[in-house]
Amino acid sequence: MDKALFTDASQRLEKALSYVSISEDAIEHLKYPKASLQVSIPVRMDDGSLKIFSGYRVRYDDSRGPTKGGVRYHPNVSLDEVTSLAFWMTFKCAVLNLPFGGAKGGITLNPKQLSKWELERLSRGYVDAIANFIGPNVDVLAPDVYTNEIIMGWMMDQYSTIQRQITPGVVTGKPVTIGGSLGRNTATATGAFYVIENIMSKFDRLPRETTVAIQGFGNAGAELAELLAKFDYKVVAVSDSQGGIYAKQGLDIPSIRRCKQFTKGMQAVYCQDTVCSIIEHKTLTNTELLTLDVDVLIPAALENQITAENADKVKAKFIFEVANGPITTAADRILEKMGVYVFPDILVNAGGVTVSYFEWVQNRNGLYWTLQEVNQRLKEKMMTETENIWQISQEFGVSLRTAAYIHGLNRLEEAINTKGTRN
Ligand code: GLU
Repeated sequence: MDKALFTDASQRLEKALSYVSISEDAIEHLKYPKASLQVSIPVRMDDGSLKIFSGYRVRYDDSRGPTKGGVRYHPNVSLDEVTSLAFWMTFKCAVLNLPFGGAKGGITLNPKQLSKWELERLSRGYVDAIANFIGPNVDVLAPDVYTNEIIMGWMMDQYSTIQRQITPGVVTGKPVTIGGSLGRNTATATGAFYVIENIMSKFDRLPRETTVAIQGFGNAGAELAELLAKFDYKVVAVSDSQGGIYAKQGLDIPSIRRCKQFTKGMQAVYCQDTVCSIIEHKTLTNTELLTLDVDVLIPAALENQITAENADKVKAKFIFEVANGPITTAADRILEKMGVYVFPDILVNAGGVTVSYFEWVQNRNGLYWTLQEVNQRLKEKMMTETENIWQISQEFGVSLRTAAYIHGLNRLEEAINTKGTRN
């Protein structure tokens, strides 16, 4: 397998290792995924033909509990990518002190080219193929890029059919009517918002004086843009995979979200003048968005967006990684030298998996919480761990990413050593 992404992902550990006294056993343990599964999924297409799709599930480490992580539908999905994402999930769950290890899954496809029925057959076929590899006490699925609550519902139903018993705890991010948690679909954005609020107050920055650019307008990016705008931040640029728009005085995010439902691509949004409030704006590419002169930059799309090629052109003072792995290790070094504060994915986007944990808990005891309860518990967790990581970074004089890895490593090593090796 091509290991470029995983090699880059695991380099983030190395720096953290010099700040923790961690046993050789634990280090060895964390270098390799526990188990990787590659499957071929046959799907009967609407036109009667048969198509075979490649799917993956990697369970990276289960020292702290059942493995946990989303399933991604994207043309770039590969074993390398899924392994890296599973590695990040391991640290993310440890950083948030969730009783979970890390996993990830994916299918290589462009989901926009499949009908709803084809997608359902594919999703059920994926669960058929990996059923022996997952389970509510083994490995728990969730949404990720281009998967959603409807797909999670199909997956839970398929697993329950195979098991001959309703098993809601095998998948999180399900529709609320079949065991989903209130607040799960807004959790990634809400969690990121708490981190941003916490940090901005440390720097005495007022929302209305803080300009923000967001790359990616999916579930997390769009929701976060709206939350920030609602609390008076000046969201001046947003983009989707087709490109972005910029307005110096701030964008009308609710209108953009509404318009996006009827248009193909962000840049077409403002043509729908019957729905949107028009303001003067410019169009820009995704790469241009990353180097805008703003206070806060939020990559909320895919990996490897800020690299050694463009890192030195970044003008933002704060970067909050809502996507997984948007900054390469080489770019990280450049940004650190430039004095940019980079708040890492394994903290910033951890609101999603945190509310997934709450969903799993609710499924186990059958008592469901109010939205207020969910958000209150989410806030507590995000605030506590943001503070812990901030303190570690101050104490050791390291970047926030290294601090987050130190924090996660300490918890992982404790679990690995407590369990001991079986040989
Ligand atoms: N896919 C999300 C992530 O990368 C959520 C995972 C989960 O809820 O298990 O964090």
